[in-house]
Amino acid sequence: MMNLAEKIGYLAQQAARRLVGATGCPNCGHDGFETRDRKALITELRDCSRCRLMYRYPTDPVEDSVDFYQEDYAQGFTTDMPGDAALVALKKDRFAGHEKDYAPLIALAEDLGILPGMRIFDFGCSWGFGSWQFTQAGYDVKSFEISRPRARYAREKLGVDVIDDVDALAAASRLDSSCDLFFSNHVLEHVPSPSDAVATARRLLRPGGLFVAITPNGSLGYRDVAPESWHRFWGKVHPNMLNDNFWVREFAGTPHFIGNLPHSRAALADWASAPGQVQDSQQGDQLICVARV
Ligand SMILES: [Zn+2]
Repeated sequence: MMNLAEKIGYLAQQAARRLVGATGCPNCGHDGFETRDRKALITELRDCSRCRLMYRYPTDPVEDSVDFYQEDYAQGFTTDMPGDAALVALKKDRFAGHEKDYAPLIALAEDLGILPGMRIFDFGCSWGFGSWQFTQAGYDVKSFEISRPRARYAREKLGVDVIDDVDALAAASRLDSSCDLFFSNHVLEHVPSPSDAVATARRLLRPGGLFVAITPNGSLGYRDVAPESWHRFWGKVHPNMLNDNFWVREFAGTPHFIGNLPHSRAALADWASAPGQVQDSQQGDQLICVARV
């Protein structure tokens, strides 16, 4: 949560950006939209009429977004890097029972046919808790994290093989197209362009490899059942709301599954055995998109 001074600073900055004038959709540049929600009179949630990304307006300049993730971004345990003693305890139990226990996500990968020994690209790995757990489970993991302090922690404390700048990521994706799974967990709601992340995934993945993105559920079907929770999913820290419409358009012509967690687990395993274009229930708070590229 922002304190009062931070909130005033954020709203003043947003008001100033409204006066400077509009830029289009941060994902595709188009300037047609429908307004889906508003906050504090100044900010609104726009639904791009071309790419269907829902994004906060006014948007952030890309360089501000990069700076923000170096030091400012704090979101509970996700970015609060544990001290040495706490980390020893977490590693000893492999995060069992902890909110960052990846056992359910490792099981999900297995349901999708991604088995130990295969290659995973963990996009937006924060301080490395997930990459480390995938590695412990036997996967060959490479990672990307835009925050250099968190990337350094992942590298030095957890031995994660992590890239921390976008140029190096672009170079890596030109050289390597052998990944079995491109995985992002609560990352794409933060990035300026989710479609750029998909393009990176398409370069990194082998033919038939899987793209998996888990985000807060911005689908209007979820808004119908939990309007207050849906309303809280966008704002300063989450400039995007990923939803079913965006993914259907992004992966038109590609086998994909759009559903929600944890409800869709069994349906995902069925999909993996015969991938088609499936849209499962949208009523949980976490949206999952899986595509076979
Ligand atoms: Zn757009």
